This record gives sequence, C-alpha cells and structure tokens, in this order.
Amino acid sequence: MKKLFNNTETAFAVKSDSELERAFFLFKLIKSEPLVKIGTAVTKFALKSHLPVEGLIRYTVFDHFCGGISEEDCMPTIDKMYTKKVHSVLDYSVEGKEDESVFDHAMEKTLEIISFVKEKDAIPFAVFKPSGFGRFELYQKITEKKELSPSEQKEWENVVNRYDAVAKASFEKDVPLLVDAEESWMQTAADDLIEEMMEKYNKEKVIVFGTLQLYRHDRLDYLKEMYQRAKSKGFKIGMKLVRGAYMEKERERAEQFDYMDPICKDKASTDRNYDEVMRYMFENLGDMAIFNGTHNEESSYLLMDLINNSDYDKTDSRLWFGQLYGMSDNISYNLAKEGFNVAKYLPFGPVKDVMPYLIRRAEENTSVAGQTNRELELIKAEKKRRKS
Ligand SMILES: Cc1cc2nc3c(=O)[nH]c(=O)nc-3n(C[C@H](O)[C@H](O)[C@H](O)COP(=O)(O)OP(=O)(O)OC[C@H]3O[C@@H](n4cnc5c(N)ncnc54)[C@H](O)[C@@H]3O)c2cc1C
Repeated sequence: MKKLFNNTETAFAVKSDSELERAFFLFKLIKSEPLVKIGTAVTKFALKSHLPVEGLIRYTVFDHFCGGISEEDCMPTIDKMYTKKVHSVLDYSVEGKEDESVFDHAMEKTLEIISFVKEKDAIPFAVFKPSGFGRFELYQKITEKKELSPSEQKEWENVVNRYDAVAKASFEKDVPLLVDAEESWMQTAADDLIEEMMEKYNKEKVIVFGTLQLYRHDRLDYLKEMYQRAKSKGFKIGMKLVRGAYMEKERERAEQFDYMDPICKDKASTDRNYDEVMRYMFENLGDMAIFNGTHNEESSYLLMDLINNSDYDKTDSRLWFGQLYGMSDNISYNLAKEGFNVAKYLPFGPVKDVMPYLIRRAEENTSVAGQTNRELELIKAEKKRRKS
C-alpha cells in the first residue's frame, strides 16, 4: 500500500500531454528561488503598470493552480476531476483587500457558492478565510483582548453576522463549511467565532469545520479543551488539519516582540504533533469529523491506515482528504481510485486578484523544495511511461 502514491498513470489520468509539459516547466521555474523572486517582482510591476500580462499569467501559472475566473468558468475542470471521483472545493481566492464592501462581497460570493453547490455532488464543501470577512487588525485587537471603540464594535458585529449568515446557509442547505486558519496573532478571535458557529449548527452532525495548524505546539491542548466544552454543550467538532503556511512570519514576529515561538521547534515535532492530533480525532470520531489537508504522503497514508484498520467505511462523511489544485495529484487521484473521500481546493477569481494566492503557492513550492522535486520526479516518470 505504501507505494500507492507512485502510480503516475492514475495521478495524471486527466492531464493531457501538453498540460503535463506545462506543469513540468512551471515546477522547474518555481524550484529556482531567484527566478520566483524576480518573476514575482516583475509580475507585480507589470500588473500595476497595466501592461498586458494577464493573458500570459492566465495560460501558465493561473491555469495550473486555479479553476477559472468565476464558478461557471471552473465547471469543466470540476467535471473533469469528478470523472475520477476527485471532488472540488470552490475557493474564492481574492485576498488582501480590506473594506466593508469587499468583506460583504466575499460573504455574498460564499453564499452564492453554497447555493450553487447545493445539489452538486462534485462540490461537497464551501470555504472561506477569516481575513476575507473582516479586518485583520480587528481580529488581532480581539485576540489581544484590547478594548474596541464603538465603531470597531459595530464592525465586529458585521463580522459576526457574516459568519452567521454563511454558517446558517450551510446548515439549511446541508453544505459543510470549511473555515481556513491564518496568523496566530489574529486567530483566537476567529477560532472563538467558529466555535460559536459549531455550537449553533453542529448539534446533529458537523456542518462547520475550523482549521488546526499543527505547526503550532498548543493545538492538541486547545482541541482537548474544546472537546470538553463540546461534550458539555452538546455539539460536534469539525477540523481541517494542516501543518500551516505562515511559519517564517510566525517565527520572525515571535523574535521581534520577544514572546514564545508558537511554532514547533522543528519539522519532526510538527509531524509528530500532526499524527497525534489525527489519532486523537480519529479515536473520537463519534463526536468529530476530519478533513486531512496535506500534501504529505505519510500523513495521507496514516489516515488511510487508520480507516483501513477500523470499521469505518472509506466513504464515511466524517473522513476527508484534501489537497490544493495543481499539487499532489498523485495523492488525490490514487486515494480517490481506492474509494476514499478526496477534495481539492480549486481557487478562482479575477487573474489580478488571485495573484497573492499564486505568489504564495510559488513561494511555498520554492521553500518546500522536497515537494517540488517530488512533483518533478512524478511528472518525469509519467512522461517516460507515456512515451514507452
Ligand atoms: C486542502 C488544504 C487546505 C489548507 N488550508 C490551510 C489553512 O487554512 N491555513 C494554513 O495555514 N495553511 C493551509 N494549508 C496549507 C498547508 O498549511 C501547507 O500545505 C502546509 O504548510 C504544507 O504542509 P504539508 O502537510 O502539505 O507538507 P510538508 O511538506 O510535510 O510540511 C511542510 C510544513 O511543515 C512545517 N514545517 C516545515 N519546517 C518546519 C520546521 N523547521 N519547524 C516546524 N515546522 C516546520 C510548515 O508548516 C511547512 O509548511 C492548506 C493546505 C491544503 C492542502
């Protein structure tokens, strides 16, 4: 079973030869840190100066990592993935804009998606990001237990109402909702609000999922405490498990302001933490649901083994595997072929507005060199297989 993810024929079954070539070219570029730095700077400059680069971005990096510019635009990709039973999570990935009308628009988009996916088996979840629904500094102020001004209180009420509107719609339309996690210095405010939503809408089953970033060493204790509250108040806990995407920023800030680094001391500790939390949640699956958001093959094998050695069905709605579109198809497609629940985040939005997301993907793949090498190795193997 440990070789499952080496099957490149299954992994790239829906990729044409030219798409495979593009992926190979992109990962080769992304592997080079100087190229990513220069590419990022040039792209930012070109977009700002209204140079006609959108087309180039669209047909290269955008099409590899994103589904399209609108929900409808994503449908051919969604349908194609679903022929292999790989599900999609439509992720409206416009980032970094901070004003009330933008937050309202993100909420409307999420509500639209919840309605859009209601009866589409290929799209089992909706998703949003805390900073998409409210100002980062506002979350931070609440996390730091600082007093809000009257206008900030009003602003926070708007944030609460946005969470409630999407969680309620998810509940009514029976579309589970994933909420992403961000920087630790704003996350407590989001976590508390997500827990309120769980308390309200997860009475019978999990509709609202939070996210545990397991590079944080405090997350198992946090989960255990939440479980006590969940048992006494009678709600179920849904969690997306991820390692976490903001490590460098977290470490730098902890050093700058001289507080204890919230991140595990090394990669091995993060990996142990991840496994421990996964096992804990699996043992308590009667009251929990897991979305295993990772490109790590060991973490994927672990959940697979736990399921295979239990009485739970592979298609149990409390057990999901998740990857990002454009990455680790070898995990997604091979798991789906084995009959497990798999969903890929499929980002979409206007090319210009999803640039921060794309830049993060490029930078992440540069810093996680092992991952990029693995992608290249798999594509190479598939190219060779197709030739022969
Ligand atoms: C479906 C999905 C949803 C996601 N949602 C979120 C989200 O809501 N919030 C979020 O932050 N991220 C999210 N991510 C991104 C996720 O955190 C990154 O994919 C992850 O950082 C890469 O980890 P990995 O498990 O795939 O693989 P690996 O390559 O095994 O792990 C790399 C990660 O390990 C950790 N790490 C690396 N070096 C060290 C070190 N020296 N010390 C301690 N830890 C270390 C870091 O988190 C690093 O990113 C999501 C990913 C997926 C697939």
